[in-house]
Amino acid sequence: MPETLRLCNRSAELSALIKRVAAARRFVVVTGAGISVNCGIPDFRSSQGIFRQIQEAHGDLVSSGRDLFDASVIFRSSETASIFYHWMTHLRHQCTDARPGAVHRFIRQLADRGALLRSYTQNIDGLERKAGLSVWDPYAEKGSHDYVSWQAAQSVPLHGSMEYLVCQLCSSSFGFSEKPGEGAMSAGDACPDCLARSDARAAHGRRTLPSGKLRPTVVLYEEPHPHCEDIARIISHDARTLASRRDQKATNVVLVFGTTLKVPGCRQLVKKLATASSDNTITILVNNEPVCGKSWDGVVDYQVIGNVEDWCRKIENQWNAQTKITRWTKTRKRNDTYTESKANKENPPPNASTREIAAKKRKATPPAGTDTESTDVYVDIVTIDTNELDQSESRAIKKPKKTPIYDDIDIPARRSLRIAEKRSLEDIGGASAHHPQVSIAICT
Ligand SMILES: [Zn+2]
Repeated sequence: MPETLRLCNRSAELSALIKRVAAARRFVVVTGAGISVNCGIPDFRSSQGIFRQIQEAHGDLVSSGRDLFDASVIFRSSETASIFYHWMTHLRHQCTDARPGAVHRFIRQLADRGALLRSYTQNIDGLERKAGLSVWDPYAEKGSHDYVSWQAAQSVPLHGSMEYLVCQLCSSSFGFSEKPGEGAMSAGDACPDCLARSDARAAHGRRTLPSGKLRPTVVLYEEPHPHCEDIARIISHDARTLASRRDQKATNVVLVFGTTLKVPGCRQLVKKLATASSDNTITILVNNEPVCGKSWDGVVDYQVIGNVEDWCRKIENQWNAQTKITRWTKTRKRNDTYTESKANKENPPPNASTREIAAKKRKATPPAGTDTESTDVYVDIVTIDTNELDQSESRAIKKPKKTPIYDDIDIPARRSLRIAEKRSLEDIGGASAHHPQVSIAICT
């Protein structure tokens, strides 16, 4: 049986594990329904869950609530099909109203730090996208706003999503409209492509064709997964990355959150990732109740019993404890610098070197969506706890300098070199009380 730790016990083993995870290089996260319950999405199996609600409302038609998500039952009669469409539309509205929770924000932080290899989710609520992660969706049209290649995707939904509808006859796909209205598409509507084909035939005096009904692009029980090969390819890629030689000194972590690992596909996913590299990959399952028995020996290293949000908070606190703000620099007002740069670009000053021009341009680019009148504050954040860091990370360490104004502000640590992120201080907790108008650039 994997080693079991309780989050409420402040054991030395737990704090050592938290330190190790906070210093890890690369993360894969696997999530289940448990992370969305606090976000306004009902789960399926609990006493207040969707299965129970369906059972109470339609007990005369289905023997259990699960039947309404079983492809072999739903499409047996038009009555069960229409109840399915009704519930999916209801669920779509709940997903639209839901907001990402602490665990989604934690995963986003991993991505911001450049440490997220992938987040796999069993959930269909789309909260990863709302949290700002790029989500792979095989139904998104190439070139469209929502399209993300699997290589670039930070999040992979394992059981489909509620973003699109697909025709059961011709497989055309359409956006799942959030609100009714002209041109809005909802579950159970007739497929516009099928109707158009049929109308074209009728115009030439030929017999009409049947049209398919639209259903959400979620994977139901008792039906083959239409994109299982694509997902298998992504998992194999990630397992190879975890096992790559380059990272053998650094710790990789597979975090499994809020799932009971009952679905066979998810079980296989965790086993494949966990065993990818036995030396430097640790697998941790965090759940409210024990899930892993003896069969998980050699796969899951630690089973942490407790609230997933509390676990995430502990890791974030550890990140903050490892981090000190070392330098704050106020720049000129953006309006001035931008105008100067624009003028320089059109009319470069004589004898200005390419390097100087480039430096001025970098300084002057106003980030989209921010107030051009406000003052920029550039912050260097440097990790000072070197206990668990490898060589490449320790190169970034500089001598800390104290700053008189902002020293007491608690700001989440970010170390990603890829990101020059601009954010309002209001996003960064207590800091907004001190300087509500100041925008912040975090450069590490
Ligand atoms: Zn169709």
